[in-house]
Amino acid sequence: MDAKTKLKIDISLVANQLNAIAAFTPNEFSGVGFGKWDKAGTTFSIYRVEILDIGTHTWTEIRPEDLKWALTDPDLKNMKCWVHRHPMGSSIPGPKNWSFTDHNTARNEPLGAAFPPTSGWTCSIVLTPTGWTGRVDEYGPGKGTTYCEVVPNPIAEMAHDLKLLAWRAKGRYGRIAQGEESWDDFDSQDLDELDVLGDDTDDDDMDDLMPLLPMFM
Ligand SMILES: [Zn+2]
Repeated sequence: MDAKTKLKIDISLVANQLNAIAAFTPNEFSGVGFGKWDKAGTTFSIYRVEILDIGTHTWTEIRPEDLKWALTDPDLKNMKCWVHRHPMGSSIPGPKNWSFTDHNTARNEPLGAAFPPTSGWTCSIVLTPTGWTGRVDEYGPGKGTTYCEVVPNPIAEMAHDLKLLAWRAKGRYGRIAQGEESWDDFDSQDLDELDVLGDDTDDDDMDDLMPLLPMFM
């Protein structure tokens, strides 16, 4: 891996599984991914994911006992990716997408405490409110972190449009609250949009979109 090369993590082979877990819960979740680099060594393709924890809105954790099975898994050598979701950051690669705890995890125990990174590398992907983003961590003297893109990333591509839809729905909700519009003015599609936004309609940030986004992945 050359840190100067534009690295990518490809999740197309596990997209259905990742979509399912993201649709199943609005909370954080975490697991591990198995994958391989392409011949050029620039795209890491994940072909298998094991989800190991569904946490709260702000916390998820892989416990050592959650990974016991991996020690005897014939594919262990390809288990190189930490997978999780959290309600912060964006799909634009960079350090801001990762919490202090995340940075510590990726550098010190990316695949759980059972697998301390004494040498080599691991990668990590995280689902933020506006899509996936990734990192590759190399270990050893002088080695560091390369922040990278995750593909495909339809939420990132649609984020602008989704935000507009959500804001439009909020605007209408506000007009109803003030008696300027009535529920009778809405068609079923409008109601669907409002339902997925829940009751948290005053909150202006992208967290509101969390339950909506998996449907578009
Ligand atoms: Zn995190």
